Order: sequence, then structure tokens, then C-alpha cells
Amino acid sequence: MDSSPTVPRIALRNGTAIPQIGFGLWGFDDESVQPVLADVFKAGYRMIDTGDEYHNERGVGLAIRASGLPRDELFVTTKVYDASGYDATMRAFDASLGRLGLDHLDLYLIHWPMGDRDQTADAWRAMERLLADGRVRAVGVSNFYADDLRHLLARARTAPLVNQIELHPWCSQAAQRALDREHGIVTQAWGPLGRGRGLLESGPLRNVADRHGRSPAQVALRWQVQLGVVSIPKSTDPRRMAENLEVFDFTLDEQDLAALAVLDDGRLVGPYARPF
Ligand code: NDP
Repeated sequence: MDSSPTVPRIALRNGTAIPQIGFGLWGFDDESVQPVLADVFKAGYRMIDTGDEYHNERGVGLAIRASGLPRDELFVTTKVYDASGYDATMRAFDASLGRLGLDHLDLYLIHWPMGDRDQTADAWRAMERLLADGRVRAVGVSNFYADDLRHLLARARTAPLVNQIELHPWCSQAAQRALDREHGIVTQAWGPLGRGRGLLESGPLRNVADRHGRSPAQVALRWQVQLGVVSIPKSTDPRRMAENLEVFDFTLDEQDLAALAVLDDGRLVGPYARPF
């Protein structure tokens, strides 16, 4: 584990340091997530992204304890799916923490802006309470595009620290990133490799990858690093897990960035894709 790469961290608005690349845990259950996380930690990841709706928090907690890693080395994110008000959010938080077997989270996100916006605003009050009480180090939202985000900001005392949205070279989310930045919100990329839907086979990514002697996945992730977003790629293959962290020792130049910009046609691969 000592030879694993160190992933740079960036500071959220309140000073909380978040690794620039973490590992996404969608699609694993309580059983399958445990050996995967052993490989993930061995590869050098310290930030992991789950959600109550992924139904693997219990397994994630077991894997964290089995790893023997100090808690303060890890950055653990989970999400609330049923953010239908203050009490529902508090209950969901307690349940997630219980399943994970942790006493605090590093990042807690509202998964989707679903339902009534007044209820979402009440849910956000719960997020602010959790932050003030030190039960989470950072709070944020996910899949909040302009309308939903502005509505929340108008009611919030503390703006979200993170907005996790679909982002990859097919959809650079320039407008949403600008809005996030304006409010001091760090944009986090989900589906950063395009979710296995052909992005990594595209000509421009392959050409830039060949030019650097890297893989298309590494180029996609390096491009995200240079945009200043935080990414959470997923792989079931330990070699790819390691490969996806090896993106901090090369740089894409203007020519590379121009070649990749051709891919940015706003294509989303979902689920529930919503354009900006
Ligand atoms: P990704 O964009 O991370 O793509 C994963 C796919 O890429 C898999 O098919 C994987 O295959 C392949 N892959 C990974 N590394 C490589 C590589 N080096 N070379 C070639 N292929 C590679 O998709 P996800 O949907 O998993 O998104 C990542 C995370 O984002 C999720 O796990 C979840 O945590 C989060 N997410 C959040 C959402 C939200 O609403 N907030 C919605 C969706 C996702 P293989 O396993 O064979 O390597």
C-alpha cells in the first residue's frame, strides 16, 4: 500500500480537503463491494462515493474497518435519496451513519432535486444543521442544475460546497461549472468515463491518448483534473483502478484541449439526464 500514488487534494470553501479523484461505488451490493474496496484502497484511493440508494453502505462500512486505514485518511461520501424535508433527511443521515458504522461523514449530498422545492429547502436546513453540529465535514447537492440550484441558494444560509453532476468529455458542463464557481461550489463529475457507452473509443480521445502514451480513460480524467473538477470513476478491474489514478504526471496542452473540445456536444448518458 505504501507505493500507491498520492492523490492531490483541493480545498472546499470551508477548508475541507477533498482528493481530486475518488472511487464511485454505484452498482455494487453489500457483498460485492467488500473485495472491490480492498482493491480500491490498495490502489491508493482514499475518497469513496456511495449513496443510501446504492444499498451497499453496510458493506462499505465493513470494508473500511477491514482496511485498517485511519479514519482521517479516508474521505467518505454518501447521499440521501429521500430528501423530502428536515426530519426525513435527519432520519436518512442517522440510518446511513449506522449502516456505515461511522461517527461522522466527510461529505453528505442530496442525491436529486426531487419533489417539492419547499421540502428540498427544508432538507437543506437539515444539511446545514448536520454541518454545524460537526456530523459532516461538508455538505452538497447532486444533479442540481441552474433552476434547482438557484432556488436552493435563495433559501440557504450556507451554499452547497459540492455539486455532483454528470460530466465527461461529451459534456463539459461549462455553464453549470461557471454557476457553481460563482457560488464557491466545487463541481464533482459522475460518470466521468462516460459509463461504458463508447466515449473511450472515440477518435479524439484515442488520438490524444496515443500522443501521450496513455489510455483514453487517463486522458478523460486528466482533462477533468485540468478543469478543476473532482472525479469519481469506477472500475471492477484492479489494473484499471490503478491506471485511473495515474494522471498526475502528465499535462494536456492547448492542442490536446482543442482536439478534445470537439467531443463536447452536450451528450448525456444518464440516468435521468437533464441538460443545463
Ligand atoms: P464511469 O464513467 O466511472 O464508467 C465506468 C465504466 O468505465 C465501466 O464500464 C468500467 O469498466 C469502465 N472503465 C473504468 N476504467 C476504465 C479504463 N481505465 N479503461 C477502460 N474502461 C474503463 O461510470 P459510473 O456510472 O460508475 O460513474 C462513476 C460513479 O459516479 C458511480 O460509481 C457513482 O458513485 C457516481 N454516480 C453518481 C450519480 C448521481 O446521480 N450522483 C449517477 C451515476 C453515477 P470496467 O469495470 O470493466 O473497468
